[in-house]
Amino acid sequence: MRILVVEDEPKTADYLHQGLSESGYVVDCAASGIDGLHLAGQHRYELVILDVNLPGQDGWQVLQQLRRDNTLRVMMLTARGRLADKIKGLDMGADDYLVKPFEFPELLARVRSLLRRSEPIALPEILRVADLELDPRRHRAYRGTRRIDLTTKEFALLQVLMRQSGEVLTRTQIISLVWDMNFDCDTNVVEVSISRLRAKVDDQSEVKLIHTIRGVGYVLETRQ
Ligand code: CA
Repeated sequence: MRILVVEDEPKTADYLHQGLSESGYVVDCAASGIDGLHLAGQHRYELVILDVNLPGQDGWQVLQQLRRDNTLRVMMLTARGRLADKIKGLDMGADDYLVKPFEFPELLARVRSLLRRSEPIALPEILRVADLELDPRRHRAYRGTRRIDLTTKEFALLQVLMRQSGEVLTRTQIISLVWDMNFDCDTNVVEVSISRLRAKVDDQSEVKLIHTIRGVGYVLETRQ
């Protein structure tokens, strides 16, 4: 079991390195986010212990990039015990959150519990079209490294379009797949939802993925 510690304070890093090594883990340490991401790209880690306050890229930015690998567990470490930080961390996909100063046995217990959790997980089915990525298990979508914030309906709509990528879907098909049976069949809602989704998915990217087939419906695909 290999653990990566990303922490700029040498004392804390040494403390974690020593304690975790003595507990039988293979531990690598990085003193900055850039070094941490570099190591994460080179080795297969089961867990990353990530400090929030880092020089250069902070822990949130590092977390965002680490999070693209959904099998990796991340525990955030911070001196700030504010509830807002905790919520932010968990919302951004951290698996656990520990406030400094902490007792080593508590950290070890959390590490063990996280690693136990990670053992049996099945690889999630992530949908990908070009640099658009959708993770149904975590309910997250990314365009490149940019996280896309979607409503529940937009998420469902994007999922339908991505699953049938390359196939044209009519407005009626989309309604039946995304909205429930009792939904008032006003196809205008599809147009409105598509244009909102398009703004979030395509507006900031040169390569457009959502296309309108006039008089028929919509298709999500890469076009040269
Ligand atoms: Ca720090």
